[in-house]
Amino acid sequence: MALKESEAIVLRTYPLREADLLVTLFTRIEGKVRGVARSAKKSKRRFGGALEPLTYVRALYEDRERQELSRLDSCEVLESPLATEVSYPRAVALSHVAELLDELLPDREANDAVFRLALSVLAGLRGPDVWMPVTYFDLWMTRLMGYLPDLSECTVCGRALNGSRAFFHALSDGLMCAEDKRLASSEISAKSRMLAAEMFRAPVENFAGTAWPKALGSDLRKFLIQALQRHIEKKLVTAGMLEKISA
Ligand SMILES: [Zn+2]
Repeated sequence: MALKESEAIVLRTYPLREADLLVTLFTRIEGKVRGVARSAKKSKRRFGGALEPLTYVRALYEDRERQELSRLDSCEVLESPLATEVSYPRAVALSHVAELLDELLPDREANDAVFRLALSVLAGLRGPDVWMPVTYFDLWMTRLMGYLPDLSECTVCGRALNGSRAFFHALSDGLMCAEDKRLASSEISAKSRMLAAEMFRAPVENFAGTAWPKALGSDLRKFLIQALQRHIEKKLVTAGMLEKISA
């Protein structure tokens, strides 16, 4: 079969047999693809440094008849996350991006909007600040996956929430007004809802350079993570890790 060439983001690798790696790629041309990189642990020429998670690469791979896994021929690094210092918060934030892409995207389905989002957020994660890019990524991934209802009205009564208190609950979609909130709901601040509205209107670069402490938008992130976990019906490992990072 013919070799395919695509820009791709490396999501995960697992050791397979002695020198091989099982690699999950998010390719631009056909979405998530799993392939085997033969002798990857030995072959610096074909893969040198290119299989670190979140490396942006140009990948050559081919599908094999009656086999689920592609054969990964080679990867050329276009941009490596290791080019700048990897602090612990940054490492966790990068893992978070990889986990969301891996868990939320279906196999073999191109999604250019998500690909562009991932590239822009990875660029935003070059520096030491993680909370803005992580918030932006969680928000847009939830929306692009179709899991985000209108945040401006109560999902129960339809009343506009602008200027009034809003609540969310781990077991239900969207936001609720004070009268319709369920027991043990959490509140999402007006400030965070405003941030979300701003993030829907502007690219991630527009938010770079402003101070963004962990507390800013933490209620929004909690709401988004709950929505994502409800839809994939499992816990996101990196959500707990992010939560434990000190501000
Ligand atoms: Zn209501």
